[in-house]
Amino acid sequence: MTERPRVAFFDFTGCEGDQLQVVNLEERLFDLVEVVEVVSFREAMSEHSDDYEIAFIEGSVVTAHDEERLAGIRENADVVVALGSCAAFGGINAIRNDQDFETVTERVYGDDADMIEANPEARPIESVVEVDATIPGCPIDREEFVQVVTGLIRGVEPTLPNHPVCVECKLEENECAFHRDEICLGPVTRGGCGADCVGEGTHCWGCRGMVDTPSEDAYTAVLEEHGLDAEEIVEQYQLYWGWQRPERATQEEAQ
Ligand code: SF4
Ligand code: SF4
Repeated sequence: MTERPRVAFFDFTGCEGDQLQVVNLEERLFDLVEVVEVVSFREAMSEHSDDYEIAFIEGSVVTAHDEERLAGIRENADVVVALGSCAAFGGINAIRNDQDFETVTERVYGDDADMIEANPEARPIESVVEVDATIPGCPIDREEFVQVVTGLIRGVEPTLPNHPVCVECKLEENECAFHRDEICLGPVTRGGCGADCVGEGTHCWGCRGMVDTPSEDAYTAVLEEHGLDAEEIVEQYQLYWGWQRPERATQEEAQ
């Protein structure tokens, strides 16, 4: 990688909230552009170049055109980073993956549903191309973005926290959402967010994806302690993990 690598941002299907987080770095953006050369970033500049080394991809893959476009980006880039949960594991777009696609499009687009040319499933970018690094979250955490960029420039392979949100929640001394009779995905969700949602008075929705080795026994014990069984959290899983959940089940079956 060059001393000041050329960086490009691309959006697929998503709300662009992750790119907004990068824009919201504000003064720190000036530090960033001292160490990288941004050659394409639709949210922040009108110039575009296909000459880049690091590609940050936001959003899920939902059309055949997305697949072609993504493959082209992969060819151009030395390093591909999935930016945000939609790109990393399908995210909120994959909420439709377990539903009848025709019904979904009719519900959203009414009489215009026939005009929609999309795949029935929303998928993460790793289902199409090799991904070198991931920054999960909905939206991403700005500090984590800076850490990953810094690591890439130094040639250090970025790693993600692999402890559940509960660890950070306890450090923050938050009241546990289960005590308010809410169902929380914190025991099996990847930490790194500072348990912000619980701190704000709600619960963890799972936006950073599952930890690598979720302790489902421990989670089941927590659910049982609060009079809930695993079936009752399936809808919660579905909000962000519509892709990740069946993927894991398939992998487990193959083992
Ligand atoms: S991960 Fe969240 S913030 Fe990012 S594009 Fe998807 S919905 Fe938007
Ligand atoms: S279950 Fe949720 S609210 Fe309770 S400690 Fe874990 S992350 Fe916090």
